[in-house]
Amino acid sequence: MEAAHAVILSVDDDRDILEIVRITLGTAGYEVITAENGEDALRLAVKNRPSLVLLDAMMPGMDGYAVATEMLSIPDLQGTPIVFLTALTGEHDRQSAFAAGAVDYVTKPFAGNTLVAAVERHLNTGARFAAIGTSRTGWTERVTPADFATFKETLVAELGEQAAPAVTAVVPATIYSLAESTGVGEARIAELVARFFGVGFLPRVISSEIQLGVLPTPFCRTNLVVPINNQAVGAAFVVANPFNWDLIDTLERASGTDSYTLLVASPGTIRDVFEREAPSERGTLLTIDPEAVGLRAGAPRPGARELGMRPPAFLADHALAAAEADGASDIEFEPKAEGVSVGYRIDDVVHEAFMVSHEQTSMALSRFKALAGLDINERRRSQRGAFEVVIAGARYAVRVTTAASAYGEAMSLRLIRADVPPKTSADLGMLPEQAEMLASCLAARQGLIIVAAPPRSGKTTTAYTVLSMLGPSGRRITTAESPIEFRVPFTHQQSVDEPNGATYPSVISSIISQEPDVLFVGEIRDAESARSILRFDETGLAIATITASNATSAISALEALGIARPRLAASLLCLVGVRIAPLPCPECSSPRTLTVEEQAMLSPFGVTPDVQVADPAGCTTCRGTGSRGRTGIFEVFVLTDALREQIASGATPAEIRSTLQDADTKILGSVALEALTAGRLTVEAALAAGLADDQEILAGRIALASATHNPEATSILLVDDAEDNRELLQSTLTSAGLSVSIARNGVEAVRLLERGTFDLVLSDLRMPLMDGFGLLNETARNFSVPLVIYSASTDPADEVRALMAGALDFFHVPVRREILLARVRHALATAGDMRTYAKSS
Ligand SMILES: [Zn+2]
Repeated sequence: MEAAHAVILSVDDDRDILEIVRITLGTAGYEVITAENGEDALRLAVKNRPSLVLLDAMMPGMDGYAVATEMLSIPDLQGTPIVFLTALTGEHDRQSAFAAGAVDYVTKPFAGNTLVAAVERHLNTGARFAAIGTSRTGWTERVTPADFATFKETLVAELGEQAAPAVTAVVPATIYSLAESTGVGEARIAELVARFFGVGFLPRVISSEIQLGVLPTPFCRTNLVVPINNQAVGAAFVVANPFNWDLIDTLERASGTDSYTLLVASPGTIRDVFEREAPSERGTLLTIDPEAVGLRAGAPRPGARELGMRPPAFLADHALAAAEADGASDIEFEPKAEGVSVGYRIDDVVHEAFMVSHEQTSMALSRFKALAGLDINERRRSQRGAFEVVIAGARYAVRVTTAASAYGEAMSLRLIRADVPPKTSADLGMLPEQAEMLASCLAARQGLIIVAAPPRSGKTTTAYTVLSMLGPSGRRITTAESPIEFRVPFTHQQSVDEPNGATYPSVISSIISQEPDVLFVGEIRDAESARSILRFDETGLAIATITASNATSAISALEALGIARPRLAASLLCLVGVRIAPLPCPECSSPRTLTVEEQAMLSPFGVTPDVQVADPAGCTTCRGTGSRGRTGIFEVFVLTDALREQIASGATPAEIRSTLQDADTKILGSVALEALTAGRLTVEAALAAGLADDQEILAGRIALASATHNPEATSILLVDDAEDNRELLQSTLTSAGLSVSIARNGVEAVRLLERGTFDLVLSDLRMPLMDGFGLLNETARNFSVPLVIYSASTDPADEVRALMAGALDFFHVPVRREILLARVRHALATAGDMRTYAKSS
């Protein structure tokens, strides 16, 4: 087809893109007509009959997928090649484009010659196909009646004599009618057909292998054919019925060659390719125009009063759009007595935006639950789900978590940019030598790589970066994730959907049966998944994340899931630990010298008094928080023989860290310390990023850690996130001669329990990171220490649940001094009795 005769319809809501397309294709000799929305595009397409359509995938109102579907349902336009222009390159987007009938897509931003090449290629396909349509000679008997009779004989031999009458009645065009008449599955019939033709049988079509643009998609859909390209066979056509010679003939002409491979799959398998748009994926896509929900540049935002008068959907969408505009990572709905506080989490600090009534929030939360496919009526049990939203043209995955609280249902919505590629290891803050070590492990054919971090500490981001470091290696990479947060090129990503039965263990085992080269598991949460992953790493490379305070405590976490140390040591290639630390705000930060207390604290690590540290004062750009942006603090431990032996022999995480530190391997604490002395982190941030945890190890004092307790005194571990509670209880206990250690949450408590021995743990119930229930679970599994729970909550259900979970006792705070001491003494006595009893029995 002559370029000069071709009319290209370009559809995009972005005028700049339309202008670029017009200039690029105009220069190449095409006539370009443009539309800024879906409705105009359809009108122009009917009127002008374009030779090819370039369609933006994400547009407000009618999106590209809807436009494509609509356009291809118009008889005159059915053969029109549609090429998507999109910033989205994930597999899901590829599937959606293909399902909507696209022949190809071009990624934005694009180079001019890429666009011209794509247009030329598809104009040629369209022209070639049109020519075939007009010159088609009809049925060509290449499969002779004798051949088909032979096939029928093999069918009877395979399916048994009772299938003979049905087989006799069948004709080449209707072989799959046998599925109904004989009760044999379509897949089985397809397998027999494949065997008869001596070609491969495909149990499923992997969407990343689909070749767009070889044939018009509507033709593929009608005739049940899929062009694919994979490593094993190269370019191939997957068909359901190779007896349909008309189809085979067309394929030969369309591909312009007779040297292609033919594969057979069942009709159902092929139909699935065109029906991938599961409602949970596409149906829930929400588009928000910020102006329509009260966000106008330069104008004040609606206050609580105005929001209170609007419909719940307005409130819900307003919260999403406002959080997005503020660059928030999460929206928190926190019910209180007087109403529900709505806050945006920015650089990990929640800023309350407004407060609304319980009734109104409840309806707004129902909207989010419906979008995320959760049970709207379930308000007690915690639920997790996800939906997608386009806000001001940017696409987000929103991860929804609900939880019951004393004043009603709480909800947290995490906003994840879906179309931003994962960061590089350097962007994340990984040191070059660490990235190099990790890359060498990723090149391995088999083994296990574990990424460990406390909750909310960058585990997911790190894992995705690790995944993208694998790059286009030619290896088959399959993931199990809940939910899929980023689309990673070159990978096949599978979503774990617990409420619908797609649990981690079931998804992992289905992936393993496909024998990928690399298995990535979003999070190890259960023993069955842990065991499967450990089996897989004998044949391929497994990468998995786990919630643990650092790389070495991941060993204990896996041990707690029933993985034996020697088995783990044999499999591990490398352990990665990560913490996210806030960066000092560049606008208001200035260097200062250390305080006397800081000098005393840091001198054991060799920090000299002249060192200057970052000291942000807080300003408007950082909302007074003193921090802007965040960085990762990493530790990467590649397994050496020595480390392997230490892990296998049952050394504690602290002992292992200590050995690594002695061997000059960077641990979280040492990396945080370097960042502190280089002025890149504040003292507070460095402490939280690992310096506090690793201080004994860094100071070479690990062996002395337990000696800080008075060995004669009874030793209590007090766990509470509230400072005033802690101080009050601590002073009461120490005044009674008890030795008290402090942890601010369950995670810290577990860390201390790993290092030292305690006679009793006294823990608050409600805490961030790991609450009292979580701590009860941990201690029940890993430590033989009695635990007493206290709480400010008067909910009797808490008390029952705590006691059922193994708490020795439960009391309410505030508590009178003598009652506290009586309870503690009673608990110690009971625990002592229990221990004696356990020993003697
Ligand atoms: Zn600032």
